[in-house]
Amino acid sequence: MEYILSEKEKECIFCLGLADEGGLTLYKGPLAMVMMNKYPYINGHLLAAPKRHIAGLDDLTLEEMADLLRTVNNAIKILKKVMKPDGFNVGLNLGVVAGAGVEQHLHFHIVPRWHGDTNAMTVFAEVRVIPEHLEATYQNLKPHFEALEGAG
Ligand SMILES: [Zn+2]
Repeated sequence: MEYILSEKEKECIFCLGLADEGGLTLYKGPLAMVMMNKYPYINGHLLAAPKRHIAGLDDLTLEEMADLLRTVNNAIKILKKVMKPDGFNVGLNLGVVAGAGVEQHLHFHIVPRWHGDTNAMTVFAEVRVIPEHLEATYQNLKPHFEALEGAG
């Protein structure tokens, strides 16, 4: 399916990801999608977003809310299976002041955590893992998300 992007959407990593540009898209569901974070706080850091280019929770339809939260839950289940983290930080950064890198397209951060990794505040503020991990992690996660798409 071809997506025709508006000017705003051409600058949006989620809209570009939906059009299969950038190679970071793991999952495209009915109303929601999952991407790797290109600049992860920690290895396995995923982003779950509605497919529509909208900024706020109150812009979501009830159907989008349901599919988005279902997608967040599925991403957590896949990360548990593949990367075996001890816990997760899951959250929204609403507004630039709150740390939103992409303010115009709503997205959940899903950050796996392991015993002994840096504490959450430091992780969110500073730590970046080396991007070479991205491709390997993508390849490990992709088949599981493909299975979800196949299952409808
Ligand atoms: Zn967008």
